[in-house]
Formats: sequence, structure tokens, C-alpha cells
Amino acid sequence: MNAGTAGEMRLVFLGPPGAGKGTQAKVLEERFGARQISTGDILRANVANGTPLGLKAQSFMDSGGLVPDDVMIGMIESELAKYDSFILDGFPRTVAQAQALDALLAKLKLPLTAVIQFDADRETLIARLTGRWTNPRTGRTYNSLFNPPLVAGIDDDDGGPLVQREDDTRDVVTARLATFDEKTAPLIAYYANSGLLVHVNALKSIDDVTSDILAALQTRPKASRA
Ligand code: AMP
Repeated sequence: MNAGTAGEMRLVFLGPPGAGKGTQAKVLEERFGARQISTGDILRANVANGTPLGLKAQSFMDSGGLVPDDVMIGMIESELAKYDSFILDGFPRTVAQAQALDALLAKLKLPLTAVIQFDADRETLIARLTGRWTNPRTGRTYNSLFNPPLVAGIDDDDGGPLVQREDDTRDVVTARLATFDEKTAPLIAYYANSGLLVHVNALKSIDDVTSDILAALQTRPKASRA
């Protein structure tokens, strides 16, 4: 693996909503100790707590748009100061955010290990998102079609209630996918020449996607960007 120090892992997870970025980030965090930094989770916590940031972000999130770049760049700056190994799950989402990330990592002398692009078709993404149910306490997710809990609405593990995200309705999902196409998909070209970009087939099983990511990290041409 190409990392500043043996054992360090600094990944960007790129890909449309519903591709499994959060799921894989949790797996790698568990196995390798790299911190999952999910900007969506941080924003949702701020919305739930009614912070000024949450109040500012909510309307953008509800409509399937993006929270303004300056807000997100400020957030990632304070998060990255805390960890040497991390998985960026949901950041960057615009070219301006990617440029800011490059500048920040150069300053911190923490080069990225790889950028993983999760590829999936639209129908699968819509089915995954609109069928997604989460245990808000543990973050465990289910899907009513592909991976249902034993009892609808109840977590198999702790018996707690499962909830659907407010932006996982069909209308908002459609808007989120359009936002990805317009604002975030250009990042595939942005990273294409860096030697860091790896595509994985996100339609495979959770275990197979993890294996593909790890295999790619072993074989990827040596390059770094910071
Ligand atoms: P996610 O959980 O990654 O799907 O993010 C949920 C919502 O949070 C997105 O639809 C955006 O409104 C907002 N969001 C998360 N990350 C970013 C980001 N890097 N830039 C702008 N908005 C973001």
C-alpha cells in the first residue's frame, strides 16, 4: 500500500448515493482502524442537535442538493486535523472541495493512498436507497428488498426500532442522483490522471467489494497526491 507510514490508510470514497460507501468505510474502519469521516453523518448529527450548522445545512439536504462548499471545507479541515488514517465518505463532492482537499493534505503532508470510485447502475441505487432502513443507535443498515430484518422495522441485533432517512424518498433520491451526475461525477476525471483512482464494481456482495478494494490497494500503481 502506498502510504506515508506503514499501516496508514487515507482513502477517498467516491460514488453515487446508495453505492455502499458507508458500509465499506465501516468495514475498513473496523479492520484497519482508519477513521470513517462521513460528512453526511456529521451533518445529520448537527441537524438532529439543532446546531447553527445543522440549521444552515438542512434545506440543502432535504432537497437533495449540496451544502455550500465553504461550510463543507471548514468541516473537513477540523476533522482531518484529528486523524492520520481516514476514509473520506462523501467528501469531496465538488471540484472546489477536491482542490481544497489537495491543498489541505499537502499542508498536512498526508498524501492520499487511493481514490475508490464505486460503480453502480441507477435502478440498483434507487432500490437500495428507497429500501434502506437504519438502526440510528448503531448505524446498522438493512434493505427491505435485499437484506430485510427478521421483523420489519426492528433490528435483529438489539431489537431497537429501524428508521428510514428523510432523504431516502423516491423524489429526493432522484434529486440526489442528479446532483451526483452534475456536481460529483466530474471528480472521476479530476482524479483520473493522479494514479490514485480505482474503480470497483459496487453491485457485488459486501465481502466481494471489500476484497476488491483491498486487492486494488495492493496492486495500484504507486502514486500519491498531496
Ligand atoms: P450522504 O449521507 O453522504 O448521502 O449525505 C447526505 C446529504 O448531506 C447530501 O445529500 C448533501 O446534502 C449533504 N452532504 C454530505 N456531504 C456533502 C459534501 N461533501 N458537500 C456538500 N453536501 C454534502
